[in-house]
Amino acid sequence: MTEAEHGAGLPAPEPQAHAPEHEAPLEPPPEPGKSLADRLYVPAIVQGLGKTLKHFLQPKATVEYPERSIYQKEEADRAIGHENARYRGEHILVKDAQGREKCVACLLCMSACPALCIYIEPEPAPAEWKDRERRPKVFELDMLRCIYCGYCEEACPCDAIRLTPKFYQPSSSRTERVYDKTRLLENNPEWQRPQRPKK
Ligand code: SF4
Ligand code: SF4
Repeated sequence: MTEAEHGAGLPAPEPQAHAPEHEAPLEPPPEPGKSLADRLYVPAIVQGLGKTLKHFLQPKATVEYPERSIYQKEEADRAIGHENARYRGEHILVKDAQGREKCVACLLCMSACPALCIYIEPEPAPAEWKDRERRPKVFELDMLRCIYCGYCEEACPCDAIRLTPKFYQPSSSRTERVYDKTRLLENNPEWQRPQRPKK
């Protein structure tokens, strides 16, 4: 374009010094499913079979419930790592060496519970119990409200309440899910250990 063609008084535009004239266009990557390996199918089939075989050889992580009880220790150990002390399931009230509840009805767990699911009514301990002044007359825990946070266990000064690996059980009524003192004392006998497991 001459100066006259471009317009009077305007300088002609500079020719582009590095314009790519014969540069080959880049090959676009193959679309998913269009590569040779994808079209042959075999690599994908082998890969899938390998993954299946890997999982087939691993121990099962499921329980054939209800044919096999999930509350049997061996089953639960295998399926959910029952021995994992960090698992927070249903509570127990811990017994002392004489078979009495360790709870001294201090109400700390009840105060710490964010879900307000613990209800305790204290009463004076029997005169022959020289190691405490009070014990719970009523101790109720509503498992439906519980969020299994473990605050009650942390708040207890005498390791009287523990969360155990026993997990939620089906029930036919809401009242069945409110555990009283007797039920809490017998809830998971295996967890009646002298020492609280390390977490
Ligand atoms: S685990 Fe948490 S919500 Fe459940 S009773 Fe204890 S403090 Fe309350
Ligand atoms: S379980 Fe522990 S914190 Fe709760 S009332 Fe009994 S002694 Fe106190």
